[in-house]
This record gives sequence, structure tokens and C-alpha cells, in this order.
Amino acid sequence: MQYYSTNNKENKVSFKQAILQGLANDKGLFMPEKISRLPETFFKNLSHLSFQEIAFKVARNFIEDEISENELHFIIENSISFEAPIIKLSDDLSILELFHGPTLAFKDFGARFMARTMEYFLKGLNKEITILVATSGDTGSAVANGFLNVEGIKVLVLFPSGKISKIQEKQITTLGNNITAVEVEGTFDDCQRLVKTAFVDENLKSKINLSSANSINIGRLIPQSFYYFESYKQIENKDQKIVYSVPSGNLGNLTAGLFAKEMGLQINKFIAATNKNDVFTKFIGEGKFLPKASVETLSNAMDVGDPSNFARIIDLYKNDHKVISDLIFSKSFSDEETLNKIQYLYDNFKYVIDPHGAVGCLAFDQYKNTINENVSGVVLETAHPAKFINVIEDNLNIIPEIPDRLKSCLNKIGNTIKISNQYKDLKEILQN
Ligand SMILES: *Cc1c(COP(=O)(O)O)cnc(C)c1O
Repeated sequence: MQYYSTNNKENKVSFKQAILQGLANDKGLFMPEKISRLPETFFKNLSHLSFQEIAFKVARNFIEDEISENELHFIIENSISFEAPIIKLSDDLSILELFHGPTLAFKDFGARFMARTMEYFLKGLNKEITILVATSGDTGSAVANGFLNVEGIKVLVLFPSGKISKIQEKQITTLGNNITAVEVEGTFDDCQRLVKTAFVDENLKSKINLSSANSINIGRLIPQSFYYFESYKQIENKDQKIVYSVPSGNLGNLTAGLFAKEMGLQINKFIAATNKNDVFTKFIGEGKFLPKASVETLSNAMDVGDPSNFARIIDLYKNDHKVISDLIFSKSFSDEETLNKIQYLYDNFKYVIDPHGAVGCLAFDQYKNTINENVSGVVLETAHPAKFINVIEDNLNIIPEIPDRLKSCLNKIGNTIKISNQYKDLKEILQN
């Protein structure tokens, strides 16, 4: 399967090159040259397939024979190794829990699959790769965990100083080995800019092999489409219209859902739920895409002012605003509304949701108010509430349980390298 750059469809590479390189030479994002519909028999049999069997069939559609069947089975067994259950809260609302992986966020699916796929392609190449990743919180820990001790790969995680939760910071800074945590004096957008600058620095690239693990890497998006199929399988009432609400920042999760729909999955509507970082919501409403500086919110993994996967969505629908806004509803919410929603779900269903999932629920409610029919809604719960325990405990009378896999890193002491938001600082570290 060939992948083209969103900046130039003639600029094509193999899947292997797309995943190892991350970003195209012309700074575009890689897109599969075709997204084929899966056969009818696949959908008929869906309820009999395991999550891993589904993942295999979906991955095959994107990778074709660039990875042998046996190797692909191996990669999936070792990366998609925890469940994605839906929890039914009411007749029209189910929560898709995507936090059962090691770092308690949906990004584990993408990071683990990508790490093992890269490891496979690097085997025998005798090449060392440096992965550069900017994080607004969850990406860093998922990627660092996914690549921990993977041979031939070093990881530098850039995070904005003081702007991620203490737990998130512990998850990134306590791993050691081939993982280096870089604390940037600045915002997430600064971190993302530094990463992008490194990728176009020809002088640097002549010295080291750089790759990206942000959601711009197609290797992270592909596995995120697996759980749309897996959760659809679990929906009881499929006669009604099916709506997925996706808490959105860089729009990677949403894009993966759109890929699933292209493959034939019967999702009628997507909801892009945003916090006060509402660039995409404004685009849906007004047709204009105007990136701006991000603002801090309680759902900090969605504090993104210039969502990178926007380019893929535009490419997928040939820049047709009407088509995009018919398919995707979007709405933005304040921190106050988010906290109220967490309390409401706890009071009414005894369910503790994290701030990102709460924004997803708010947007689903809003969507329901605009239509006159019954729908079946699935809200993606993108992180475990314990990752945002401070937000929840400081503001509400709710105490989330902390899973053991999170407890273990909390007692360790972290290590970071501090830099300014100037590119020269980052370059210096990369060269050493
Ligand atoms: C990364 C993240 C998001 C945003 O996902 P995108 O794919 O960037 O839109 C939402 N919630 C949580 C908890 C996240 O970690």
C-alpha cells in the first residue's frame, strides 16, 4: 500500500517509509492512497470475531502484504492486549472505555502498535532512530511506555513545564533507559513547534534519523480505528442511528473513526467534542479554519490550538465543508460545564468519568437536543479518571480509585532535562 502526502498526492512512499519517517518531506501528513471497504462477510461475522481478529482484518486493509500475516498477528497480540469495553449507562448512552492499557489512556493502542511495527521494520536495518514527541499530557506517557526498551530506538518526550498533571509527569519522567523527558519552558504549542522545526532541519537530519510519534504518524492512527469496530460490535440496539462522540484535540481519534466509516462501518454521525480550544468547532460552524494559541483547561490533553490532523480530514473529504459538517457535529464547553457533568454522571449513574469524557458526554447531550429521533450514542472515554485525580478531588466530592498500574510509578523519582522554548536548546540535546 502506498501513502501520499497531503501536500502533494504525487509524493508517495511505502507504508514502511511512512511509519518510519512520520511526516512527509514536504511537511504534509501521510494518507493511504485508498481506504477499501471491508467485505460484507466481515460485517456479518463481526459479532463472532475477537478484538484481535478484528484488529488484524482492519490493519491488513492499510498495510496489505508489507508485513507478513504471522508477523502482523504477532504485533497485534503484543500491542492490542487489553480490552475496549462499552458500559451502558442508559438506553441511548454508552461509554467506550479506552483506558485499560498500561498508561490508562486511549493513546496506548496507537503507541504500542506503532512501537512494535517500527521495531519490526528496523530489525536487521542496523539503524538507530530517535523518536521526538511533543505531549500535552497523555501522548508522552503512552509513547514512552510503548517504546520502553525497544531496541534501536531512543525517545525524547517534550512536555510543557508545569502544564501537565503531576501523575502525567511521573509517568513520563520515571521510565529512564532509552526514554528522555525534556521539560520545555512554554506551552504545548511551543513543544509541537520545536518538534516540527527539528523535522525540517536538514542539517540535523543529516546527522541523526528522526521520526515522530505524534498523531501525525499514520502508524498511530491505524490502530485507533480498531476500537470503533470492536465497540460497534458490542452495541445492543443497532436499529437506531449510531452516533460517536469523540473528545478532540489534535483530531487523531476522530480521523481514525472517519477511516472506520470509509471502511464501511455504519456510523451515522460523529461529534467532535471540544473544550475552549474550539478551532475545529468554529470550522464546522463557520467554514473557516483559524488556528490560534491554545488556552489551558481542565481537559488538558485537548488544549490544542492548531490541530494537526485537520489536514487529513480536509484531504479525505476533498475540502468540501458541506460534506464535513453534515457528517460531523461539533460543540465546545467550559471547565465549569465539564465539572458539572462529572458530578451529574456520578450522582445519577455512580460512574466516575474523566474531564475529557465529560466533554464528550456534554456534546452528545447537545447533539440530541438538535434532533427529533432516537439515537444510540457512544462516548469515547479517552482516559481513566485517576489520571486527573487532582481536577476531580479539588473541585468535587468524588474520589476516583487509583489502579495498581498507576500507583507503581508515583513513588519513583523522575528525571528531566530543562530547556527554553528556543529551537537551539533542543538541537543541542539532539546532537549529543
Ligand atoms: C490525546 C487525548 C485526547 C485528544 O485526542 P486527539 O486524537 O488528539 O483528538 C482526548 N483525551 C485524552 C485523554 C487524550 O489523551
